[in-house]
Amino acid sequence: MTIEVLQIACLDDNYGFLVHDNATGATASVDTPEVAPINAALEAKGWKLTHILNTHHHADHAGGNEALKAQWGCTIVGAANDAHRIPGIDVQVSEGDLYEFGATKVKVIEVPGHTSGHIAYYFEQDDVAFVGDTLFALGCGRLFEGTAEQMWVSLEKLMALPDATTVYCAHEYTEANAAFAITVEPDNLALQARIEEIAKLRSQGIPTVPTSISLERATNPFVRATSADLQNTIGLTGADPVAVFAETRKRKDHF
Ligand code: ZN
Ligand code: FE
Repeated sequence: MTIEVLQIACLDDNYGFLVHDNATGATASVDTPEVAPINAALEAKGWKLTHILNTHHHADHAGGNEALKAQWGCTIVGAANDAHRIPGIDVQVSEGDLYEFGATKVKVIEVPGHTSGHIAYYFEQDDVAFVGDTLFALGCGRLFEGTAEQMWVSLEKLMALPDATTVYCAHEYTEANAAFAITVEPDNLALQARIEEIAKLRSQGIPTVPTSISLERATNPFVRATSADLQNTIGLTGADPVAVFAETRKRKDHF
């Protein structure tokens, strides 16, 4: 591994992440949900914050930018499309950019849908992705600023990452997502098994994040628009994947 990742519980159900580049000591906070726990984690590790990598502008993701920048003088990286609303942004990145973080290259993937400027960060050498509020364990972000078609394309971009990719999502929403997922894909055995596992973890207060591309592909209804079980359950047998995704997202909004 060229990087070490530390996951930090923040606010009610957010996760913040510190990424430490082993070769240079550079340390990034992926989003800034809450300053105090991020600083406590830095202190516990003896790391100095050099970067902030923002996935999107929402306050539970960029709300700590200015305080952390004032304290550490760190460089803030965010989407060029959202530069006007990422507090303190220094470096603007776009689709396909390879940002040099210490000795590590980070690939930028544009994933609009939850917000119009949402991006994901993919650490290719370590096969690790930070997906913000685009993909969740058994879920996906709400469509605040994008269409179902945009979000579907964004999710498919993430699903094109290697199966073994470690996926860090920004919220612990998994139990609620599971309760919905089983209603639209009741016969999915992998989903049934995963739900048992999730209940066990959560009863002990253990995070269900990170997840992996292969696990989501097998169990997350929002990336399974081609599943016959899902299509039949929602009355869209043989329909186009975007229509199936749109209906699934709509049902979750009203669940
Ligand atoms: Zn958000
Ligand atoms: Fe969020």
